[in-house]
Amino acid sequence: MQLIDIGVNLTNPSFDERHQAVLERAYAAGVQQLVLTGTSVDGSEQALELCVKLDESGQRLFSTAGIHPHSASDWNGDSAQRLRGLLSEPRVRAVGECGLDFNRDFSPRPQQEKVLEEHLALAVELKLPVFLHERDANQRLLEILKDYRDHLTAAVVHCFTGEQQALFSYLDFDLHIGITGWICDERRGTHLHPLVREIPRGRLMLESDAPYLLPRTLRPKPKNGRNEPAYLVEVLREVALHRHESVEDLAQHSTACARRFFGLPSVD
Ligand SMILES: [Zn+2]
Repeated sequence: MQLIDIGVNLTNPSFDERHQAVLERAYAAGVQQLVLTGTSVDGSEQALELCVKLDESGQRLFSTAGIHPHSASDWNGDSAQRLRGLLSEPRVRAVGECGLDFNRDFSPRPQQEKVLEEHLALAVELKLPVFLHERDANQRLLEILKDYRDHLTAAVVHCFTGEQQALFSYLDFDLHIGITGWICDERRGTHLHPLVREIPRGRLMLESDAPYLLPRTLRPKPKNGRNEPAYLVEVLREVALHRHESVEDLAQHSTACARRFFGLPSVD
């Protein structure tokens, strides 16, 4: 079985210097390739550095480059140029994480919207897919995407946690959907159980979002409470259950989808 974790925050300090061990466990669990999420310009540089340092083969680790909506206030005169430089590196496969988070509003909404548009313009210019974050901002995201969608190659709404109407609106825009261990959360994720069945094959990808979102159905629970990419198998199991698919079938089509989306090589 081969899986691809399309979103892991490997630069997060909670992984400190144990990256190699985390990756070994992921590979052993069948997670063959990982896309490291960049959430700031510095963080995107660090993600790329980790890819190069930890994967000499150039086949397993890739990254994104962008600024998370929480940090949209950090956008400055250098940001577009530095992101453009990163996005021209062969390991960097998507623009993002970028988007709108009206749940926590860590940056003012007009600034989030401006910075999202800067990312979308880069994606159009460089013909790269987009890794989108959206929380409580479905309508605004659609309004902004409307002007760009025809010129974008592809975009994924990562860590989808919304309701049916939001899901259908994204599928109508021909977007991809990323599902995390949120679906394993009995307190806030059960609405996703019937919804994941509605995502067509070729549009669905899996992600750990580690070290966040430890799947709450995981047994035994790790003592440190930290999520890691090896536990993507638990997300796979839960999504397969609710789609009425075998884990092998879901692994096969979600991996093929991710490989196509990010343009990743096959691994032996
Ligand atoms: Zn996110």
